[in-house]
Amino acid sequence: MTNNEDIFKKVTAHCKEYGFVFQSSEIYDGLAATYDYGPFGSELKNNIKDYWWKSMVNLNDNIVGIDSAIFMHPSVWKASGHVDAFNDPLIDNKDSKKRYRADNLIEDYVQKINTKIEKDCLKAEKKYGNNFNRQEFLTTNKRIVERQQKIDKIEKKITLFLKENDLPSIKNLIEELDIKCPISGTCNWTDVRQFNLMFKTQVGANQDTSSDLFLRPETAQGIFVNYLNVQKTTRLKLPFGIAQIGKAFRNEIIARQFIFRMREFEQMEMQFFIKPGEEMIWYDYWKKSRMLWHKSLGMGEENYRFHDHENLAHYANAATDIEFNFPFGFKEIEGIHSRTNFDLKAHQEKSGKKINFFDAEEQESYVPYVIETSIGLDRLFLAVLCHSYKEEKLDNNETRVVLKIPAFLAPIKVAVLPLTKKDGLPEKAKEILGELKLLYNCKYEEKDSIGKRYRRQDAIGTPFCVTIDHQTLNDNSITLRNRDSMEQKRIQIEDLNLIISKKTSYINVVKAIEE
Ligand code: ATP
Repeated sequence: MTNNEDIFKKVTAHCKEYGFVFQSSEIYDGLAATYDYGPFGSELKNNIKDYWWKSMVNLNDNIVGIDSAIFMHPSVWKASGHVDAFNDPLIDNKDSKKRYRADNLIEDYVQKINTKIEKDCLKAEKKYGNNFNRQEFLTTNKRIVERQQKIDKIEKKITLFLKENDLPSIKNLIEELDIKCPISGTCNWTDVRQFNLMFKTQVGANQDTSSDLFLRPETAQGIFVNYLNVQKTTRLKLPFGIAQIGKAFRNEIIARQFIFRMREFEQMEMQFFIKPGEEMIWYDYWKKSRMLWHKSLGMGEENYRFHDHENLAHYANAATDIEFNFPFGFKEIEGIHSRTNFDLKAHQEKSGKKINFFDAEEQESYVPYVIETSIGLDRLFLAVLCHSYKEEKLDNNETRVVLKIPAFLAPIKVAVLPLTKKDGLPEKAKEILGELKLLYNCKYEEKDSIGKRYRRQDAIGTPFCVTIDHQTLNDNSITLRNRDSMEQKRIQIEDLNLIISKKTSYINVVKAIEE
């Protein structure tokens, strides 16, 4: 097991042990690819949502929010192209009877070559020390150049085959590369077939008269079909955006990596409506803006990168992913797509309702173009946890597990801890708690030694612990312990709010983006 796989396993176990994420229906042995958020998980998730909503809706004068229904008229999905084209190519191994996404098998193969390149780089770096020039090594080392050429060739082929829906060639490529089923170890593959990812359900009690509905596979369509309502009621002029946070459902062929790929998940999407012809300006604007937002979380600039798409979805004329460096490699966390006027036009045609914007300056009407930013809330949650999980060796040789969650996102901001359960300390602690909980999400604990209580707060990522002791009763001073440095400071109760709010407010984070 690599170090990173080990960390990922530990994060997954930690999530369960400390009430962040549970397997859905666990007492019935669970339901694959479905998870529930526990007490601390739901707080963290709410804080992430809140930060996104504030920075997207509250801080932009021309972006408003909506909350549309999950059920939508079936024609929506016909018009949007999802009924015909929201497919993944699947393939089965005849020996193991296991099902895979054909494009993922090829992606994993490419990832293995990338890992080999990385290993060679590390070896060379060790050998040459300070004289090592990574860029030069990557472009001149014969073995690496050959490997990179192989990757480029494979990626070019798969992009083309997916674009042309050439399923036999995808199968040929898998066979040509001698990709084996990880379970059976054989290349005994079925043909590749397309599989629609939408979940179907029915409305109405009577099966015969009921009609098929789909669980929405993206929140975006709820925004498009409300474009006219929102534009008319808010009287916003282009460019303007509509944002929404909500559940989406996809019948993923295989669900992997814990909450990274689920069948029920949550998206935070914003559709930005613009004048046709301005799409590349706004596409670049939102690319930059979203990357800055991610970096504002303080999880290391080096952990983000763009991955521009060659294989574009049926609605897009440009697309990129913001990828985060998860323990299992760089993977998509947010997609930014230039969706043209595909969706609005399709809904206009299918519904027969005019979906136009009248541009008073140009004295003309047109169907707006759209730039979409779409982020997976659960993936961001996972990124925060993976990045925050630390095991630290202490001076006394013990190890502490601490979640160094960005303080403004932490589920609990302050723990209030009386040193002992007697001598009036709990009463004093509850008095302080009474004030603090009006402002912050707090936790009160009086059981176990203070050391054990500090460790428990570290494990759920609480940035501050306030300890009340006998001296507090005399001079109104408390001990404030910092999660990250473990430093303990004696301060007056009246100074608490200023220190905690400075560190846990999202305002400084937002200001850092603006600078
Ligand atoms: P992928 O290539 O990983 O399947 P996608 O490109 O299909 O993702 P989009 O349709 O662009 O994803 O959806 C926008 C965002 O929704 C993604 O960036 C991702 O964060 C999130 N997302 C998509 N599918 C899932 C899923 N099955 N589970 C969790 N989050 C998801």
